[in-house]
Amino acid sequence: MRLLERVPFRIPMATRFRGVEAREGVLLRGPAGWGEFSPFPDYPPEACARWLAAAQEAASTPWPSPVRDRVPVNCIVPAVDPRRAHAIVRGSGCRTAKVKVAEPGQREQDDLARVEAVRDALGAGGRVRVDANGAWDTETATRMLRALDRFDLEYAEQPVATLEEMAALRRRVDVRLAADESVRTAEDPLRIAGLEAADIVVLKVQPLGGVRAALEVAEAAGLPVVVSSALETSVGLAAGVALAAALPELPYACGLATLSLLDGDVAADPLRHVDGKLPVRRPVVDPEALAAFTLTGRDAAAVLDRFDAAVAALREAG
Ligand SMILES: [Mg+2]
Repeated sequence: MRLLERVPFRIPMATRFRGVEAREGVLLRGPAGWGEFSPFPDYPPEACARWLAAAQEAASTPWPSPVRDRVPVNCIVPAVDPRRAHAIVRGSGCRTAKVKVAEPGQREQDDLARVEAVRDALGAGGRVRVDANGAWDTETATRMLRALDRFDLEYAEQPVATLEEMAALRRRVDVRLAADESVRTAEDPLRIAGLEAADIVVLKVQPLGGVRAALEVAEAAGLPVVVSSALETSVGLAAGVALAAALPELPYACGLATLSLLDGDVAADPLRHVDGKLPVRRPVVDPEALAAFTLTGRDAAAVLDRFDAAVAALREAG
């Protein structure tokens, strides 16, 4: 492959998320445009190799042909009180809301009140999904999903941690289940489909090794797909948008409205949604904005070391 320009970057998170205070990685520039390599800090080189493949694809190959020019997205409601939840949904312009539930330290009543407020804010025509990030056991998930379904849930994302629990829960409740944390590699969606452990799979471009790889995973799984971000800059989000735009069917809003979780962006025209829809386009990187977040010295060396380790791991994997 032609030598690509590499820019190590770091952007603080607007609020701490997944225990991460900043997103950092390497932006790659190639003949097709920019690609983003931003694996989470605890990932080993073998996993980072797929994130690298995604960045290389973005920089070197045009996206697959889109079949739509807009991608519907959901707003995100953290584990806040009902009044705040209502205001977030009203202020977002989105017709689909994803509500965080099963937050440690909160009561089941808090989840019910939050989801009720979100349903009220959206009205009957809106869609409400919940995300437990695998925190419930099967008993609790059964009880909570039956209770929450009075607010007409679109689906529940990763209500329990393991695929076996997901499969057992799915036989006990009427609410559709989506697998998110259960999808780490390209093989996982096939296992999920085989075990009938979910109705929907959440796919992210970087961990799956690129837009084309993710399209193949989607086809092989044979389940509806929700495309989600890995908390990326506009460069990484554009790859998610490209995947969502190329999927033959897109029955659900995607989790790509995450730019506001970062305290800044590298694009001149950031990928922010308008009325719950993201335009299908490739943002242009603004040199000044990029310079503001470019790492130097020892910080840059550390990030580039991770990048080089991923290069070696990807070569090893063939
Ligand atoms: Mg999730």
